[in-house]
Amino acid sequence: MSDKKVYVIPCSGIGKASASVGRDATYRVVEDLLPDRADTLCLALLTLEDEEAREKVRDNYVVAIDGCAKDCARKNVEAAGRAPDIAHRVQDYLKKHKDLKPEAVLDVGEGGRKLVEIMSEELAGEIVGLLEEDD
Ligand code: SF4
Repeated sequence: MSDKKVYVIPCSGIGKASASVGRDATYRVVEDLLPDRADTLCLALLTLEDEEAREKVRDNYVVAIDGCAKDCARKNVEAAGRAPDIAHRVQDYLKKHKDLKPEAVLDVGEGGRKLVEIMSEELAGEIVGLLEEDD
């Protein structure tokens, strides 16, 4: 398995419950499911063209998670020098799980939490697959 890290970078959408789901799923992956292989970094650093953050993006794998179709995370990763290896919108998970609508930004509610679990488990599986491809 590759020794590269996988940076999971959620968008910073402050007023959208879907963005909260993306961030919660990111923390679940990097803190609980794959703490040794996955990490996150602040999207604002890429927006500010921070060279250390850009280098991490260029030298490792990246997963972009966006809360809406504006795709801020994906676009800022691309601006840092490469396309994300995996890119998802929370809406795509919502389309598949219409009964799990997140309720609010600060507390995504029971449905939102179930969506976070589904999303984080799927993401973790995709990340393991990505690392295995690099063997
Ligand atoms: S992708 Fe959408 S929710 Fe996320 S920061 Fe951009 S505009 Fe906000």
